[in-house]
Amino acid sequence: MASARTTRAFKLVTLDRRHIWHPFTQMRDWLRSEPTVIVAGEGAYLVDAKGKRYLDANSSIWTNLHGHRQSRINRAIIRQLHRIAHSSALGLANEPAAVLAERLIRLAPPSLKKVFYSDDGATAVEVALKMAFQYWQQSESRVAGSQRLSFLALDGAYHGDTVGAMSLGGIPTFHRAYKSLLFRTKKVMAPYCYRCPFNSAKPERADARVYRKCQWECVSLVERELAGSTRKRGKSSQQRFAAAVIEPLIQGAAGMIVHPIGYLKQFATLCRQANVPLVVDEVMTGFGRTGTMFASEQEKVRPDFLCLAKGLTGGYLPLAATLTSQRIFDGFLGDYAGKKTFFHGHSYTANQLGCSAALANLETFEKEGTLRKIAARAVDLRAMLQEFWQLPHVGDVRQTGLIAGIELARNWKTREPYRWGERVGVRVCEEAKKEGVLTRPIGNVLVIMPPYCTTPAQLGRICDVLKRSVQKVCGEKNFS
Ligand code: PMP
Repeated sequence: MASARTTRAFKLVTLDRRHIWHPFTQMRDWLRSEPTVIVAGEGAYLVDAKGKRYLDANSSIWTNLHGHRQSRINRAIIRQLHRIAHSSALGLANEPAAVLAERLIRLAPPSLKKVFYSDDGATAVEVALKMAFQYWQQSESRVAGSQRLSFLALDGAYHGDTVGAMSLGGIPTFHRAYKSLLFRTKKVMAPYCYRCPFNSAKPERADARVYRKCQWECVSLVERELAGSTRKRGKSSQQRFAAAVIEPLIQGAAGMIVHPIGYLKQFATLCRQANVPLVVDEVMTGFGRTGTMFASEQEKVRPDFLCLAKGLTGGYLPLAATLTSQRIFDGFLGDYAGKKTFFHGHSYTANQLGCSAALANLETFEKEGTLRKIAARAVDLRAMLQEFWQLPHVGDVRQTGLIAGIELARNWKTREPYRWGERVGVRVCEEAKKEGVLTRPIGNVLVIMPPYCTTPAQLGRICDVLKRSVQKVCGEKNFS
């Protein structure tokens, strides 16, 4: 039995190596290593072709919510399969898409009234960008359309890998190669308290947001940017931004940078005052990750666009949604000949299987009290994270809800980082993998983002294994 399994695993590895090009992966390293082939999942675990089990500590790149092979979502997809897998949304409606849209609007901030479906996080953002841009192009005021040609985003922003979403991106490692291909956006400093040039506090063994000393310069910079982009034309002034885009409460791919409480509200208020539509990208934060259904709720923000993907289907299928306001929607109404139509769509827009999975996901939240479960697990995580401060190579530990980022530093007192080439985060995760915990680092930042079914004991194991792995790689004992 074991040898049949090994033979099968070997065959799959050979096929993968021969034919597959993996995302965000240096393929030379990949081809030199032995890939892990996942063949099954169960709750918080993934199982590889050799039968080894791993705790899925980053929820399969932040997608899975309730665990793998969750029975309600499984059943919903199978039920839908017996009716139809897919019919086009171009000119046709379908049942799960309509029911889901109503549920999403009911759950989302009250400013949002319409749902546009697509496939992935990047497309959800792309749709928001194009809608905002076209809205101004065809607005009553011609001048507005000719002026609003730019977008405001944060340094370190990540909104996906399509060309529009990349244009908003602020991660040089990912975006530098395409610079001349991208449209220009204005980037403003992100509130990254641990490495903020305005934070005059000395590093402490605590979340930098708590001990920071500053005057909210990050907010003043947003204010200045929005004011500076307003062109005076005679007595009236014209805004140059078609929209401002933000990952609310926490910037994921930048390194799980949790923003200080109140930043989002101030950002949103400034946009409102400058009449710049606000796009909140909740591709990562949506569906309970930060403790509330949507992160925007925590600071009572009413966005003009809300982008959803990843957890929308519980992490099962590629479905995304861009929610927007009645005002934006109305800006596209007109007669057929006027061509105010939103000329955008995808073959699988509003796919029935995806929408059915999403409905089962939302039903799970209701029936299983998922938000209460997340709150309890987030408290557990908070307590467990304290122990990371004992490790001298931990510089910052930040958490919101069931998301944590642990930033490793060569010297926590000076905040000196490890160099990219040292691959410290990668090596720590390789160690953890040997002990059956899977997660993917972001540079020097370790990520913990478990599925909601993860038990306190499993969470404890994730933290213990990661701690041991840091000690192995960084070569240090505890302070104590
Ligand atoms: N926005 C955010 C905030 C994300 O974290 C991601 C993915 N990590 C995306 C957009 C892009 O999503 P996708 O990979 O599904 O295109």
